[in-house]
Amino acid sequence: MARSRSCLWRRRPSWRTRCSTGSRPRSRRRRGEPAGRRRPDARSRLPRADALRGRERAHARTCDARRGHPRPGFRPSRGAGGRRRSRGREPSPDPAAKGPEVATGPQIAEAPDLETLAALVASCTRCTLHESRKNPVFGEGAADARVVCVGEAPGAREDETGRPFVGRAGGLLDRLLLSIGLPRKSVYICNVLKSRPPRNRDPLPEEVAACSPYLLRQLALIEPEVIIAFGAFAARTLLETKSALGRLRGTVHRYSGYPVVATYHPAALLRNPGWIRPTWEDLQIVRRMLDGVGDREARGG
Ligand code: SF4
Repeated sequence: MARSRSCLWRRRPSWRTRCSTGSRPRSRRRRGEPAGRRRPDARSRLPRADALRGRERAHARTCDARRGHPRPGFRPSRGAGGRRRSRGREPSPDPAAKGPEVATGPQIAEAPDLETLAALVASCTRCTLHESRKNPVFGEGAADARVVCVGEAPGAREDETGRPFVGRAGGLLDRLLLSIGLPRKSVYICNVLKSRPPRNRDPLPEEVAACSPYLLRQLALIEPEVIIAFGAFAARTLLETKSALGRLRGTVHRYSGYPVVATYHPAALLRNPGWIRPTWEDLQIVRRMLDGVGDREARGG
């Protein structure tokens, strides 16, 4: 009978003479040898002989089973010798069953242009918001804009259209920007989050953490002179503070080295028309910075 390749006995040269078939060696009595003091042999010199005897028994059971001759009543155990090990490699997973690849931080940070970055956002699954969004809202505007407007997250209209700041709030934003001599297409408009949170709830910290690399890369590619943070959430997120928007307004702050001016969100202005004047005053700071008058303010941020 051919020996099993997996037979444990073959791996012990000193045992080969006693296990020519890979089966359990016969006892001394069955070999016709007298009982009594045992011959000094290789086995007797092995350490932990008791433990090895238990292993022999376990191995003998497995070895019989592997050769296709299980003993009556044999059931592979989960013990040392009874464990069945798979032969060969595990079957590789079906590539078609793999989900979409998640954009990694280095991929985002090394995106060479806004189009590449937008493609990463379009297939992004870095947070759970991708499950409920209709369209990602990457941002739009001039790639060399001097001003970047940053809002909180897409709303229902933005989610439908895939464009930031549309609808009535978007129209008001356009008029506010025009009041400081900036047509919409001369600036870049985006949000902290690129996917809409369900029912416009506040973004969660983990969603902000997952999405922030996109905003950082957008800013690095555009290199604006000023960032306008529209709304308390955008301002608090960019400035990493919990201060009220009222305390953040009227001063130039910094985000990753870029000057930041915080002001009210256009949607809030629709509900509170009394805030339009303070917002216009905040935008005058931006105008002065673009004209080079506000350098001292920016340095002091
Ligand atoms: S919110 Fe940002 S991180 Fe989350 S799925 Fe959308 S693009 Fe990806």
